[in-house]
Amino acid sequence: MNGHLDNLAVFGATPKFSTPLHVGRPNIGDREYLLARINDLLDSRWLTNNGPLVQEFEAHVAALADVKHCIAMCNGTIALEIAMRAVGLAGEVIVPSFTFIATAHALQWQEITPVFCDVDPQTHHIDPRRVEGMITPRTSGIIGVHLWGRACDVEALTKIAQKHHLKLIFDAAHAFGCSYQGRMIGNFGEAEVFSFHATKFLNTFEGGAVVTNNDNLAKKIRLMKNFGFAGYDDVIHIGTNGKMSEIAAAMGLTGLESLNEFIAVNQRNYQAYRSGLKDLPGVSLLTYYESEQGNYQYIVLEIDETVTLVTRDQLVKILWAENILTRRYFYPGCHRMEPYRSYFPHTGLLLPETERLAQRVLLLPTGTTVGIDEIQTICQIIRLVVEQGPEIKQRLL
Ligand SMILES: *Cc1c(COP(=O)(O)O)cnc(C)c1O
Repeated sequence: MNGHLDNLAVFGATPKFSTPLHVGRPNIGDREYLLARINDLLDSRWLTNNGPLVQEFEAHVAALADVKHCIAMCNGTIALEIAMRAVGLAGEVIVPSFTFIATAHALQWQEITPVFCDVDPQTHHIDPRRVEGMITPRTSGIIGVHLWGRACDVEALTKIAQKHHLKLIFDAAHAFGCSYQGRMIGNFGEAEVFSFHATKFLNTFEGGAVVTNNDNLAKKIRLMKNFGFAGYDDVIHIGTNGKMSEIAAAMGLTGLESLNEFIAVNQRNYQAYRSGLKDLPGVSLLTYYESEQGNYQYIVLEIDETVTLVTRDQLVKILWAENILTRRYFYPGCHRMEPYRSYFPHTGLLLPETERLAQRVLLLPTGTTVGIDEIQTICQIIRLVVEQGPEIKQRLL
């Protein structure tokens, strides 16, 4: 019991952490470099419209993802919408429900019906074994999501797409800097989409990009993100405004300079969580494949309530009380959000693994603002609560 004496302080009347620890706190590179770039761009008065910083950012992203074309955009959702439209998705598209809502909304926004497919509980990814059963005469494509930066089953999805003449694109919002079978993510399907939102591994405040190796598709997407302009007064395609601004690219370029540091810190944090939560019954930490490149941006726990003395949601509450602002991604699943839950109220029956996962998953704070000591304390608290139950706090006080 001695070990627990140390932990008395953990459950004082005030939160363990005086400043909240957030999931998805932005990684920011060298401030001086950023401010210098902003000064230059103000001097140049080139604030947007394919400026030099956006061009430089696109070149770097393409090089890092080892892909031919990168078209930077104002955010990942618009990038998804444009990619979907450019490859000709229509009717129905098969997507996982266990993803950020934007994957589904980007389809529905264009009156394409997302058909939710269940996930593999091991990987959290769309389960290729279930995809074929969901294909109908209206199906035009499949969207795989590389959740948590681990690649989904690209090989199996590619085979299914080829066999049924379906378009395949990937939501790679989590997966910048990650690889699949040794090849960088960005090279698969017709196109892949990154997000550079503030909470993502690399950020441009708000931003995203479509990457592809297809020259014609790249040309089309470039037109579509700029109203279809081919030159002054010359509109040759329908389009929208998906442009990335120069200040966003300035942030992105600055982040890129610190990318290796972001990875190193994330990896260090991941290892600290691994050792801090090792052999804790009912709690498993999602592992990253050591044979692949990764960004280690997400610390994902699964809580097995049949083993732990707390429910996942009780644990969330207790951690919040200590200012550890853990999050239940992607609870409750897209299919349980509007408009999908009204359109298809019984979809959950087809998604048992998604429903189960949405009840189990919990994300913990990481990134460059979280230190090893903080992680050790977080792990101590989790261990105590999971092993002793939710009343532990009252008992100790
Ligand atoms: C963040 C995210 C998006 C949307 O990207 P934004 O840049 O925020 O528009 C799409 N899909 C997934 C899986 C995401 O996590």
